[in-house]
Amino acid sequence: MNEHDSERIAGLLEAEGLLSVSEESDADVIVLNTCCIRENADNKLYGTLGHLKTWKDSREGRQIVVAGCLSQKDKDVVQARAKWVDVVLGTHNVHRTAELLEHSRSNGPITEIYDEAVEDDHVLFPSALPARRETTYNAWVTIQIGCDNTCAYCIVPSVRGKEISRQPEDIVDEVRRLADLGVTEVTLLGQNVNSYGRDLTLAERQAGGDVRVRPLFADLLRNVGTVPGIKRVRYTSPHPKDMKSDVIAAMAETPSVCEHLHYPLQSGSDRVLALMHRGYTAQRYLERLAEARAAMPDIAITTDIIVGFPGETEEDFVRTLEVAAEANFDSTFTFIFSPRDGTEAATMTEHFVEPSVIADRFDRLRVVVERSALLLHEARAGRIEEIVVEGPNRKRDGHFTGRTRQNKLVHFASQQALRPGTYGTVEITRGAPHFLEGIFREVLAEPTHRVRIPVAVAGH
Ligand code: SF4
Repeated sequence: MNEHDSERIAGLLEAEGLLSVSEESDADVIVLNTCCIRENADNKLYGTLGHLKTWKDSREGRQIVVAGCLSQKDKDVVQARAKWVDVVLGTHNVHRTAELLEHSRSNGPITEIYDEAVEDDHVLFPSALPARRETTYNAWVTIQIGCDNTCAYCIVPSVRGKEISRQPEDIVDEVRRLADLGVTEVTLLGQNVNSYGRDLTLAERQAGGDVRVRPLFADLLRNVGTVPGIKRVRYTSPHPKDMKSDVIAAMAETPSVCEHLHYPLQSGSDRVLALMHRGYTAQRYLERLAEARAAMPDIAITTDIIVGFPGETEEDFVRTLEVAAEANFDSTFTFIFSPRDGTEAATMTEHFVEPSVIADRFDRLRVVVERSALLLHEARAGRIEEIVVEGPNRKRDGHFTGRTRQNKLVHFASQQALRPGTYGTVEITRGAPHFLEGIFREVLAEPTHRVRIPVAVAGH
């Protein structure tokens, strides 16, 4: 979500006539888009701002903008700690970046943070703003902002606000426009995509009018999946408590929806899941997974797991190992618990787990998930897979990198040069825990997106 916001800020500033440059010394404006989900985000921010003070002082008129969820959370603190910052804006007023920069030029530093995404009854959906897309054959499309859940470790609800769904027609329209520009792969983006549309139905009910049956996420997947030109549809993130059979059926029945489900487990212990307020049990999680695999036998499953949540006992952790082994994940993002100010888990200090115990658990979990990943990847050797080319492999001449429909990274040899966004087939020759290797076979479709030609800055 933050990366997508960065694209939009860049798009807005380019629409105002600014050009992006690769060297800090060439820049007149630097925007730091912060993410407080990252560990030590504030230390990194203030360290960087300290360094940027010299940059700013060395040329008249230079400006610094701090955006993102850390500024949303800390509000006035940023300018109190770094007075040389010109503009501080939050997650709900990205659309004001250019105006605030202009304002600060004549009026001095400004902080503007909105508490909610609604202004004058108009929800300002990020994707409605121009975006400067970094890779143009694929694109993120925001379908929902905010989150109504209360996961004990998570800062998102307090920095991104309540859950608001974007109108389905607007989403499909945006996907059509992207397809017209040559985009072939879209990733639908929301904090909890399975609850997409609930607020739209509720709002109509409360308004007392005729309640139309609002398209929910499964319908959205089907509608986006049939937009001409879109070959791959992905989404992130689903929530196991809200995942229903209709979404699994929509995935299985819509050919462009990829055979990949990122399905965050977080813990295999029901006791820890309850402490986290996740709203499901390990059993329910595994049942849905079995349902997804029954509907799509070749689906890849990836997950997020937190190790060392406050109060996690050895017994709890062993359950996580057991569930991870049973789930047979293709890959796992394993996070060591670290408290985020403003979350419930950060207050559970007396139950914090010793760092040495967490490190040991982290290693044991890695062994389990790498084992399943390696077996799954080795089993793909000899298969012909559809890939989309990401680009040349910088470390090996004559090699490229691509993604399969299962979202697996493939390093492959090719005698012909291939442009990013090319669809082709690769024969898989080897599986490793985190990637596949193969040999390029044939081009299926050339890319049609417009390629950005870098603009040279006069005098450089
Ligand atoms: S559902 Fe996701 S975004 Fe929402 S509170 Fe839980 S972890 Fe955070």
